[in-house]
Amino acid sequence: MCEVYPVPEDFAVEPGRLYVVATPIGHLGDLSPRAGAVLSGVSLICAEDTRTSQRLLAHIGSKVPMRALHDHNEREQVAGLVDRLLQGDAIALISDAGTPLVSDPGFRLVRAARAQGVQVVPVPGPSAILTALCATGLPTDRFAFEGFLPAKSGARGQALDALRNEQRTLVFFEAPHRIVATLGDMAARFGADRPAWLARELTKRFEQFVGATLADLLDWTEAHPEAIRGEMVLVVGGCPLAAVESTVDVDRLLMLLLASLPTKQAARVAADVSGQPRNALYQRALELKQDQSPD
Ligand code: SAM
Repeated sequence: MCEVYPVPEDFAVEPGRLYVVATPIGHLGDLSPRAGAVLSGVSLICAEDTRTSQRLLAHIGSKVPMRALHDHNEREQVAGLVDRLLQGDAIALISDAGTPLVSDPGFRLVRAARAQGVQVVPVPGPSAILTALCATGLPTDRFAFEGFLPAKSGARGQALDALRNEQRTLVFFEAPHRIVATLGDMAARFGADRPAWLARELTKRFEQFVGATLADLLDWTEAHPEAIRGEMVLVVGGCPLAAVESTVDVDRLLMLLLASLPTKQAARVAADVSGQPRNALYQRALELKQDQSPD
């Protein structure tokens, strides 16, 4: 289907600007009219993969030339592109799908353009992160996007250990061939009962949301290998407040407090700071004082 977008005046493309344009993550109908107008009105489109983006440009009838800008050539391309912007060309930056720079190339170009005073104009639209998050029913008031976890199991375990006490909802990108291992690592570290959702093939024909606990989701992925394909986002509930492990070094805290406060008061302040029971801290404070006293 070829749909040529009209260009209302307030969509007009201004010379010398870098447009960072979000594109659909599946459904082509999610391209905004403004994004379509920009992709038809700039002098050049930098695309992660020009063949992939050709389909989108054909959909809107854009004949704007494209240039590949990906992780392997971004460094060499940046200076020339910023020169063109400074000479007055309007350039659009897109990635294969979704919002550029989000686990996608473009950061170096935006940084270099900003450093030279080029106006950078975001044209917002789809991103797999919010598309998944807004439909799971997990808390959305605060969340942490963690991108792709490390592929190697040791580094992935360390990354997950660092997130154990995170109370915000967690959003991850994951590849189908790693999802079972990742869910296993998460269940072992975050606890089998944490709520989690697998959001697959968003906005596409076979879009699917599977919500369960980490342990159930692991069982489900193992039982349905045929469903473990395509693109996926994993959304995991945050650590409940009651389960947050204290990271406060209570001995050190008590020692500092005991230097200027009576034992009871030191234990009370330490309990407030660490969330640990006051009685236990009082006993510990007595032990520490005992250890310190010259016999
Ligand atoms: N910049 C993109 C964005 O804003 O959504 C993300 C690019 S990242 C390289 C690609 C990853 O995003 C995929 O591996 C998958 O985890 C997620 N993703 C992209 N499109 C998706 C879709 N339609 N359904 C589910 N996940 C998707």
